[in-house]
Amino acid sequence: MDDRLVTTGFRPQDDDQEYSLRPKSLVEYIGQRKIKDSLSVYMKAALARNEALDHILLYGPPGLGKTTLAGIVASEMGTNIRITSGPAIERPGDLASILTNLNRSDILFIDEIHRLSHSVEEVLYPAMEDYALDIMLGKGPSARSVRLDLPKFTLIGATTRAGMLSSPLRDRFGIAFRLEMYTPEELAEIITRSAGILKIRCDREGALEIARRSRGTPRIANRLIKRVRDYAEVQADGVVNLKVAREGLKLQEVDDLGLDRTDRNMLTVMITKFSGGPVGLETLAATTGEDAGTIEDVYEPYLMQLGFIMRTPRGRVCTALAYRHMGFTPPQTASEDSQMKLDL
Ligand code: ADP
Repeated sequence: MDDRLVTTGFRPQDDDQEYSLRPKSLVEYIGQRKIKDSLSVYMKAALARNEALDHILLYGPPGLGKTTLAGIVASEMGTNIRITSGPAIERPGDLASILTNLNRSDILFIDEIHRLSHSVEEVLYPAMEDYALDIMLGKGPSARSVRLDLPKFTLIGATTRAGMLSSPLRDRFGIAFRLEMYTPEELAEIITRSAGILKIRCDREGALEIARRSRGTPRIANRLIKRVRDYAEVQADGVVNLKVAREGLKLQEVDDLGLDRTDRNMLTVMITKFSGGPVGLETLAATTGEDAGTIEDVYEPYLMQLGFIMRTPRGRVCTALAYRHMGFTPPQTASEDSQMKLDL
């Protein structure tokens, strides 16, 4: 559902401004304190030794700033970055040609790295470990393998699902960071920064209100401020304040916790058709008309973070909190019930 305003995924219409809103240095990158602290130490050390940075794995839900961080590492290290993605590298030869075109200390950023095919991954192992490329010459019994040296580069891999990475690949990353969802205060800071770049007048309360509904995700925060700006320009005097933010987001059907129609429909279906669960992912997908993978990657992380949904071995369960938010009376045993189901 890429049309959703609150999707964490990238939408083509984000493209024009996402570039200008992207922080270009570590100081401009808001939040993720621990990652920034460690990264700056690693970068300083690598620069002092005049070496390439160790390979880095970034994981966490979409829109939290993985690509942005990779770009920042490249600019702080003063190197080039080559951006590609797991599904775009179809054959081992594609990866070989990318690798042989890298220069010393360059950064290769592979988004959705968990989607690399097995044969491509095999090429990546010696490249990451020994900075070498093994090429097979000829076919059949006379085939022989030749080893080519590669420049010392840094691979930055990004994934939404660290669990789906094969362990040989995961083990070859010297550094791994899990990006956390942002607090409303951090998101308000991001919104204020973006508003400044886009020349939107937005006060502190307005920014905080949008922040609270941005599902912990900068990409959504940036998208919501742009939509509220439209509302402010047409219906108010162009200033985004608390009232304008509330009204603008109501018009977009984004509720006070950042849930949109799709989330609310999913919760209503779980409550009314499955007595709050447990309901299996596939069943939920079929009844709501959503894709199972999208439910798992996009909707659920936030609903789980809110404590509205729990994953149990028998399926998804709605909690009493979700019942109340949706205006239903939770069954007497809702939370105890879910606890029991969780223990199964
Ligand atoms: P991901 O690669 O994790 O999907 P991106 O790096 O593309 O996410 O980030 C999406 C957008 O969110 C970026 O264009 C940027 O404007 C904004 N953004 C992400 N992280 C931050 C941050 N820490 N500070 C400010 N803006 C951010």
